[in-house]
Amino acid sequence: MIGVYGGTFNPVHYGHLRTAVEMKEIFSLDEIRLIPCSQPFHREMPATSAERRLNMLMLATSKISNLVVDRRELDREGYSYMVDTLKSLRAEMPDESLYLLIGTDAFRGLPDWHQWQKLFDYAHVIVMTRPSYELPSLSNFLSAKLTKNRDDLVENQSGCLFFQSVTQLDISATSIRDKVKEGLSIHFLLPDNVIEYIKDNKLYLG
Ligand code: ATP
Repeated sequence: MIGVYGGTFNPVHYGHLRTAVEMKEIFSLDEIRLIPCSQPFHREMPATSAERRLNMLMLATSKISNLVVDRRELDREGYSYMVDTLKSLRAEMPDESLYLLIGTDAFRGLPDWHQWQKLFDYAHVIVMTRPSYELPSLSNFLSAKLTKNRDDLVENQSGCLFFQSVTQLDISATSIRDKVKEGLSIHFLLPDNVIEYIKDNKLYLG
């Protein structure tokens, strides 16, 4: 069972890392693939190169077993569509269950993702929520995928929508970039070795 955690990771922070570790433990996943996107379809191209965003992920996860940085979106031409990423993971791992992990903000935008309904052909979609999260009203398509029974995730390799509450730290990459620009401290929001990398490469200074 493999978790798939995509994002721009500009930069990676403890909000990402803490949720990844918790999801791994909650679902007994063998590993989580952290997959930085190269060319996002729905947002501006990040000013920080994909290689640098990947380097920061490598530093952040270097001592955490089973968090694996996956560079496949950097090695692909064109937009980084999640459906293509899942398709290639599925081709490599035909017998694995795949768990696509997304936050509630990403889930709200899901219907705008390229071929979003096909995501369920390759993976379960797990929405990481705050404990007090109220289930939104869902389209017919999503309602049909929704399950509240964890056994469904184990018994199928893909195709379920599941909401899982996790500790959410109120940290965003945007707030970190803003702080750097304003000359404020970013300590305790992300790993020290990533902070060093940001300083050494003069990132986010504006
Ligand atoms: P930005 O501020 O640049 O939009 P971000 O901090 O939201 O960035 P992304 O790389 O865009 O980070 O997010 C990747 C995934 O991580 C998304 O599914 C998002 O919902 C989730 N995520 C981001 N921040 C947190 C957080 N603090 N806690 C839990 N999940 C998060």
